[in-house]
Amino acid sequence: MTDNTPVLEIEDLSVVYASRDGFVKAVEDVNLVVHKHEIVGLIGESGSGKSTMAYAVMRLLKGDAIVTKGSIRILGQDVYTLSRRELRKFRWTQMAMVFQSAMSALNPVLSVENQIVDTLLAHKPGMSKRAALERSEELMDLVRIDRKYLKSYPHELSGGMRQRVVIAIAIALNPALVIMDEPTTALDVVVQRTILDEIQRIQDQAGFAILFVSHDFSLVAELADRVAIMYAGRLVEVAPSRLLNLGDVHHPYTEGLLRAIPELTGDHVTIQGIKGHPPDLVNLPSGCAFHPRCPSAVDVCRVARPVATHVGDKLIECHLFRREEAVEHGSGSAG
Ligand code: SF4
Repeated sequence: MTDNTPVLEIEDLSVVYASRDGFVKAVEDVNLVVHKHEIVGLIGESGSGKSTMAYAVMRLLKGDAIVTKGSIRILGQDVYTLSRRELRKFRWTQMAMVFQSAMSALNPVLSVENQIVDTLLAHKPGMSKRAALERSEELMDLVRIDRKYLKSYPHELSGGMRQRVVIAIAIALNPALVIMDEPTTALDVVVQRTILDEIQRIQDQAGFAILFVSHDFSLVAELADRVAIMYAGRLVEVAPSRLLNLGDVHHPYTEGLLRAIPELTGDHVTIQGIKGHPPDLVNLPSGCAFHPRCPSAVDVCRVARPVATHVGDKLIECHLFRREEAVEHGSGSAG
């Protein structure tokens, strides 16, 4: 169950990439809070900026990326004021990341046991080898892999087991925040389902916050407490998952995503996608970046960028929802 303690606080974050064609505006004016015990799903098409945002939180952006403004705090600590040495300690103990490809996240020439033990000893200098071995056994129990596989090498495990090992390493030091970047994309649907159940169960026990990055809307809506929807580098809607229903009020982009989810039962219906393509992030459309694809666009959409507006428990960035309670541009907190 969510408690109100903020673990991750992203405020007015903007990130650009320097390219030959100009600055790619990957993340713009993003505000988001993730609380203890909470799972927030970050959804977007590929190139929407969701992975850039996740990497920015971990301070793992590549050299051509520039954080132009904003702040990222984890349990009140500004991640960007940490020295390199402090950051090394902060990663894994306070924030950890589960990457998409377990095979490339694991060292192929080290046994599972050695990889877990090495992580523990590197970040907890006072820990004894014996305590690290005991903790690695505990972690295998937690991710439900038989302890005998501690002696195995990554290539000897199935894809699902490898991903569980990566999760075990990520949570080894009880971080406050775990970022999961498409952790189940490479797995078949049955294994994917099992891993998601495991993530929920482990999180229930350990209480860390999760930022779960995915392009799979239906999967995230089922897993997460809240969903943050990203389009062209901006959070266009943040909503509790229970309120993600067609027929309810939503950002037009969210509606398009909801309409694109196939029904497994009922009459055969043709899926309606979202027309057009994601915009060029170097030359974003004027006003609302979604306007060339939006079926509800009106004149103002082409000239003015909408501000984030509270609509019940949702925060929506769209002119259709401009109300008195509108939050001033850039100061909306999606918490
Ligand atoms: Fe559509 Fe206008 Fe809303 Fe953008 S601001 S989503 S163009 S209605």
